[in-house]
Amino acid sequence: MEFSIILGLFILGTLLGSFYNVVAYRLTKGQSIIYPSSHCPNCNHKLKPYELIPIVSFILQRGKCTKCKKKISWFYPLSEIICGLLFVLCYISFGLSQELIIALTFVSMLVIVVLSDYYYMIIEDSVLIVFGLFLVLEIYFIQGFTGLYQSLISGVIAFVIMFCLKLFGDFIFKKESLGGGDIKLMFIFGLVVGWEMAVVGIFLSAFIALPISLFILKSKKNHEIAYGPFLSLAVLIIYFSHLDVKLLLSWLGC
Ligand SMILES: [Zn+2]
Repeated sequence: MEFSIILGLFILGTLLGSFYNVVAYRLTKGQSIIYPSSHCPNCNHKLKPYELIPIVSFILQRGKCTKCKKKISWFYPLSEIICGLLFVLCYISFGLSQELIIALTFVSMLVIVVLSDYYYMIIEDSVLIVFGLFLVLEIYFIQGFTGLYQSLISGVIAFVIMFCLKLFGDFIFKKESLGGGDIKLMFIFGLVVGWEMAVVGIFLSAFIALPISLFILKSKKNHEIAYGPFLSLAVLIIYFSHLDVKLLLSWLGC
């Protein structure tokens, strides 16, 4: 039973991960996510059902389009595997509980946010709005009005703190320090993990981002680095480690 649930969630995660790649790619280009059906971006070859199986198709086709033989980025199967693993992690972390529904929605949003921010340096408003609404509804049905009220307040506080940080950063660096998407994303982090932990996430993300950014800046001439992925990774670590304010304060000896 346990194994079949884990396997089922992994497969669901890879299938949705494949779809989230399409969503991230097309939304940022202003295209419909339904039409046209999946095709090779190089030769427009329409993908057959057997070319759409997450991970498996990539291995069978040896990472190339079946028609024009153009290489397919290894980032696609990697993001499918990561999405599958995150779904499994949600189950390991929350079990078959109502919280699992919130966790799967939250993780799905983060996968799309990270993909679109990594590929195109954009966090689409439509993604945040749609998933934000889903999360609000789920929190309302699971935790009731009081739970939702506290979550919304938390979201607003996290948003305001991030907005103030942006103003401060803009003033110090004399240019745009944080994108609007990062600030809106903080609202959802506050909503799901609480504003205190969302703020801890900002500090953790800075620790993660610093060495990686230095490496990227050294190896590439590109001086712009998307911050959304670091922020998302930090909040995921907090979310899955069940780190909360009381635990953190006890560690700090308070
Ligand atoms: Zn092709």
